[in-house]
Amino acid sequence: MDNLPSLTEVVKDYDLGANKKLGQHFLLDMNLTDKIARLATPLDGVNVVEIGPGPGGLTRALLLRETASVTVIEMDERFLPALADIGRASGDRLSIIKGDALKFDIATNVPAPRKIVANLPYNVGTKMLINWVTETPRFWDQMVLMFQKEVAERVCAAPGESAYGRLAVLCQSVAQCHMAFDIPARAFTPPPKVDSAVVVMHPLPEGKCYPNLKLLGQVTQAAFGQRRKMLRGSLKSFAKKHGMTATEWLEKAGIDPQLRPETLPVSDFQKLADCLSQK
Ligand code: SAM
Repeated sequence: MDNLPSLTEVVKDYDLGANKKLGQHFLLDMNLTDKIARLATPLDGVNVVEIGPGPGGLTRALLLRETASVTVIEMDERFLPALADIGRASGDRLSIIKGDALKFDIATNVPAPRKIVANLPYNVGTKMLINWVTETPRFWDQMVLMFQKEVAERVCAAPGESAYGRLAVLCQSVAQCHMAFDIPARAFTPPPKVDSAVVVMHPLPEGKCYPNLKLLGQVTQAAFGQRRKMLRGSLKSFAKKHGMTATEWLEKAGIDPQLRPETLPVSDFQKLADCLSQK
């Protein structure tokens, strides 16, 4: 790995200009990529999945640790030769998949234990996260993900905070989530318009992970769809589809119908979903 050219040379030699449509903003500072990889330690014996390796800065940092394997999924084939160079230097610990990560079945194709570590493409990062969080049985052992800071805040927000909503409820129903550090826009090539932040997600213990995530997703979508309304208003039509009034449903769950969704703890949304699944 030490004999590989610098990332700046790789970008220049292979002519890897950023394609904005694919959300490409590269991290070429190996101190930063190492700082991200360190958040995923211990990595001994772990199979890491990285979405969108681009020129491979984070990939190198992951392979420089005791990772059993790194599987990268990259949509833009211009990066494949540079990634193949890294693969050869890594003693064949790198698997390179060309394609759309949204269509890649990680659980089937990568052996456990698995960690997902990625500087996610801005345009599809949230969608990927929701897919991974709601997939049952859970297939990942830790996630270390970089998002736009605003998305990272939505994952980690507590009730009462303006960023609190559906994403926080879903993610915090399966994982303990925290924002590790911010990365300013100027650290990327080219710089995006906004700052980024790295989120670390550790799964909750088996019995504490909320099982009915699809239903919880529907409940939170209805509740936060009209977040300025009281719950008895925002949940009105969703409750009707399930044959009751919103007030009946909320009272059955022990929740004051006059509250607004952003004040409700994660456990109250789970109670609402439980009441529906028990019907
Ligand atoms: N990991 C690199 C870094 O930190 O320098 C690049 C990160 S860049 C923000 C996102 C990467 O994801 C790009 O390389 C882009 O081509 C890739 N990408 C975008 N959409 C993708 C998708 N649906 N599946 C796989 N890769 C994707």
